[in-house]
Amino acid sequence: MSDYIASIGLEVHVQLKTRTKMFCACPVLDEGEPNTAVCPVCLGLPGGLPVTNREAIRKTVLVGLMIGSEINLRSAFDRKSYFYPDMAKNYQITQQFSPLCLGGVVEINVNGQTKPIRVNHIHQEEDAAKIIHFEHSSGIDYNRGSLPLMELVTEPDMSTPDEAMAFLLALKEMLVYAGISDCNLEMGHVRCDVNSSVRPVGTTELGVKSEIKNMNTFRGIHRALTYELQRQISVLRAGGVVEQETRRWDDDAGVTLSMRSKEHAHDYRYFPDYDLPPVVLDAVTVEAWRAELPELPAAKRARFMADYGLPEYDAGVLVADQDVAAYYEAVAQASGNFKAASNWVMGEVLRALGENNLVIGQAKITPEALAKLMGLVEAKTINLTVAKDIFQILFDKGGDPEALVREKGLAQVSDVGAIEQLVDEVIAANAKVADDYRGGKEAALKFLVGQVMKLSRGKANPQMASDALTRKLGGAI
Ligand code: ZN
Ligand code: MN
Repeated sequence: MSDYIASIGLEVHVQLKTRTKMFCACPVLDEGEPNTAVCPVCLGLPGGLPVTNREAIRKTVLVGLMIGSEINLRSAFDRKSYFYPDMAKNYQITQQFSPLCLGGVVEINVNGQTKPIRVNHIHQEEDAAKIIHFEHSSGIDYNRGSLPLMELVTEPDMSTPDEAMAFLLALKEMLVYAGISDCNLEMGHVRCDVNSSVRPVGTTELGVKSEIKNMNTFRGIHRALTYELQRQISVLRAGGVVEQETRRWDDDAGVTLSMRSKEHAHDYRYFPDYDLPPVVLDAVTVEAWRAELPELPAAKRARFMADYGLPEYDAGVLVADQDVAAYYEAVAQASGNFKAASNWVMGEVLRALGENNLVIGQAKITPEALAKLMGLVEAKTINLTVAKDIFQILFDKGGDPEALVREKGLAQVSDVGAIEQLVDEVIAANAKVADDYRGGKEAALKFLVGQVMKLSRGKANPQMASDALTRKLGGAI
């Protein structure tokens, strides 16, 4: 590969998170009986008239704002004509001539290097219905027909499969964060057409590209690109020419296969959709929408490192989920101990969430309660072992940590007299080990401290227990 450079561009279709479809009032159903969310408009019956879903427009504009696109205040819909049962009207409503968002940049990070990937445009369109193949027949589910999609088209700025993967992950993170889409890949919320070409090092003109259609897993895209780039290089090395064509990825065989060449390319006969008025926005509305945007992950990570002094690793883990990040900030502010708050949230909180398959909103422990619990450890009222037990109770049932410590009598025993009494009992019950220690076996002390902790049911202050033991045993030498 070293004597060739690859250029990769993506066309990413994303299903927007809206209540209703792109041009009718049918609900958006990810699951459900086929053909139950349909109406004359999305079935393309004569007389059905489309009405633009404003929330879909708003969401696409938000994506444009996030990546620094120019928002086209007057965009319009066009018809892409083709004949296939997944589109009952025999045309798809899309934006060919004046898309909603123009330009923009998504920054990716690969091997510690930041690289800007330019976006050509984002347009609004409707999805096609889903064709399901049975053994001897096929069925069509029009529930998916006319769902709202945005299609983001990049420039061919990526040069490795890793960069393409990084781009998709960065885009997905942003879209999920801002509530644009759930980006559930299994549900087909994100589907890509992958364009790629190679050219010899030292040349500037892009090579002939191929397009791999309809990829719906990031891993599949990575594998398909790895194969496809190698295939193109092999063709060129053998003195051949790469054909401009559409290919498909056969995941089982691990190869791309030709679907149709340039001569057989579709002529979609795009023309303006006269059923739909242009989408007219004003700058004031767009600015109001911009104000609703959340802080984006990259900015939040930078702020967590600057404001809370967190390592990059902590910032990355905490920011990955917007609600976890907010929870962390509340704990950090209530406790005033930023790094300890990070340790608790990354450790106990995320562990408990994972084990119980919950999201942070379902945890019963409030950020204030966790901060109080941290305060009890810091004040040495309880030790870390007891704190983790209390955490589990608070996580499951909620409540006040101080009240729990009182109720359950869990406060650390820091009373010298009480600890000495425990130590005497332990020495009496473990005379042999005590002798070993007296005889110079240092490790015996650890065992004895453990026995004191056990006897106190974890409540003894371990440092004080250790001190009392050395005092008593040392004195007998
Ligand atoms: Zn409908
Ligand atoms: Mn499209």
